[in-house]
Amino acid sequence: MPASLMSQEKKTAALATLQGLRAIEPGRLRDRIQEISERLSKIEETLTDLAKKNDRKAEKELQVEQVKLAKELYEKEREQQEIGRNEDSYLGVNALNKAYEDAKWQRQRLVVEDVDHSWDYDARCSATETERKAARIIYKIREFERVVENDPAQVGSAADVTAPFGNNPTEELPSAYTRDMGGQFLTNKTRIDQMSKLYDIAKEMPKGALLHLHLNAEILPAELIRRADQLADNSMFIASKTPLLIRKDFDNAEIQVAVHPDNRDLSYRGDIFSDRHPGFAATKPENPDKSDYKGWMMWSDFREAYQKLAPEVGITISHVDWVKERMVLSEAEVYDRTQTVNGIWARFNQGTRAFKGFLNYETAFKWYIGAAIDEMVKDRIMYAELRPMWLDKVIPSDKQHGHDGKSLKLDHKDQIKIIIEEARKKIDEFPYGIKIIYCTPRSIPKSMMWKEVDNCLQLKAEYPDLICGFDLVGAEDRVFHVGRYIEHLAYMQEACRKMGPDFSIPFMFHAGETLMDRGGSFDPSNSNLYDAVSFRSKRIGHGFALPRHTPRFIERFKQADICIELCPISNELLHLCRNAKEHPFPQLLQAGIPCTLNSDNPSLFSNSLSYEFYQVMVGWTRMNLHGWKQLALWSLKYSCLNESQKQDAVRKFDVKWQGFCDMIVKKYENNWDQTKLPSKYISHNSTKLIEQLRIDENIPYELQPASYVSKSIG
Ligand SMILES: [Zn+2]
Repeated sequence: MPASLMSQEKKTAALATLQGLRAIEPGRLRDRIQEISERLSKIEETLTDLAKKNDRKAEKELQVEQVKLAKELYEKEREQQEIGRNEDSYLGVNALNKAYEDAKWQRQRLVVEDVDHSWDYDARCSATETERKAARIIYKIREFERVVENDPAQVGSAADVTAPFGNNPTEELPSAYTRDMGGQFLTNKTRIDQMSKLYDIAKEMPKGALLHLHLNAEILPAELIRRADQLADNSMFIASKTPLLIRKDFDNAEIQVAVHPDNRDLSYRGDIFSDRHPGFAATKPENPDKSDYKGWMMWSDFREAYQKLAPEVGITISHVDWVKERMVLSEAEVYDRTQTVNGIWARFNQGTRAFKGFLNYETAFKWYIGAAIDEMVKDRIMYAELRPMWLDKVIPSDKQHGHDGKSLKLDHKDQIKIIIEEARKKIDEFPYGIKIIYCTPRSIPKSMMWKEVDNCLQLKAEYPDLICGFDLVGAEDRVFHVGRYIEHLAYMQEACRKMGPDFSIPFMFHAGETLMDRGGSFDPSNSNLYDAVSFRSKRIGHGFALPRHTPRFIERFKQADICIELCPISNELLHLCRNAKEHPFPQLLQAGIPCTLNSDNPSLFSNSLSYEFYQVMVGWTRMNLHGWKQLALWSLKYSCLNESQKQDAVRKFDVKWQGFCDMIVKKYENNWDQTKLPSKYISHNSTKLIEQLRIDENIPYELQPASYVSKSIG
């Protein structure tokens, strides 16, 4: 027999077997029966409509289909009954059923395993009934805000608008109003502020500790500028990098300010609007005797001149707003299509430098510490560890003078005294006060680093309860890497060891805040993450690049029990990812690494800890209320409070947390979608989704831990 005929025979036999299998496959039968039933009820509905409209022709056509389907349904149902009655005589039914059950079980097992090993397992298993209820409510609110959209242009009044995004997975092109939930933070911010109940809830959430906050960067600039305006004694000065002559100069200006009480009587007055302005790089306000001091312009002169000159180049905003723009990262510059990583970092550093002078004098510094604590209390934070950049050794006093009549300088100890004193005034709302993580740039010469290490050790000896850590900071794609200072750091650790068990300055490096991850060099072995682990840091800032390392290295990181201070909004604005949904925090958490949320530089990023909690909730569908709680609890566990303070803090936190969950249930249980949206503004698709949300049982708001599902999988 020719080979082709033989294979033809085989094919025919194979097709016949397949046909036989199809005929007795119970699932296929079930699906077809359901399909027919659904179509029949749809036909029934349509026929009623057509009867009303008296459309005989269409009615007839449908009736033909109805009869045909009814007949098929009858046959299929009989077939099904037949199989049910006499299973054994139908070859293969049992095997098929088993295959089907096996597939279901295998899948279920994967889900259960995934849940059992999920990072928030403990928090979910120990949740109270109220917490579970609150978690479901938050889930519903989030999904409601994700899918529903009502465009204020159509609804008419912003007060009616409760649905910020409108992400519907449909073929329809989104409206101009639609935005992505969890999309660009600064783009979405106004909607989050004005419309999001989820954000309202995040604001109320007790957050534990804030462990990554740069000292200069908690308070928004408007208030700082207002204080500069009010300095009556003309001691505030401003300089620009280049003279402000034409519009472009104003738009791209980098400015710095400084308080110099001894210089207010100078006869010469600098002018940043003059083409002779030498720029701040060429001058130092600390050296009034030098002629190059002429670069710095009195703040009061600047204000006056700005009001006259800015309109001449077409600028209509006030001097306050113009200065603010120099300091805060704007939506336009962050997301500009030509923006680069280095570009936005350079802008960020400009902003940081601009802030410095507004704070670094005695009265402002004093006021600032209190105001920063107030701001944190408002954000439901219990305790904070702040990072001052202490390369600057002194700040001027604007009210104390020495025997020579010159203003006094406040050194680090004076500044620490102010911090302690101001924190003590707030002890009722902020019971554990502030601790300080000593920061110095990763870019300084080695000889200077020895001085920094000595200074930090000395301050620790004098203020053991206040100095709680050491950090090296700066853009990680620039020189140098942490390992360059390996001798200094080893010395510091050894010195601490010699001083005894109570004298500890744990390392809390900025590490892995980069996509390049090679410590500002061409050599990948210079990744700062290696130093973070080898020096057994207590925590690190960011850790964004960690998931790009091997499972082996990640395991080492985990074994060292290093906590990561996540700063998702900071990472987005500084171009490590486009938005919260792309941030690797889920990978870090699921790798079993303890993490906390942090605002990093709120005054430059327009964020707060509440926004950070909001962002992780919308950035990852598996984030839930229990996850929020776990993150807050870790912020206390990995803080530098002592053990008894930690226990006390957790107790206080638990009480607040209970109150928070009660509030959610009481306030939102029945009104998470209270505002009934005009149906014409809701697409058909989102109507269906909302209906699903309204029925509680439809919300598998979390993957259920094994103890709940074990029954169903036998
Ligand atoms: Zn930072």
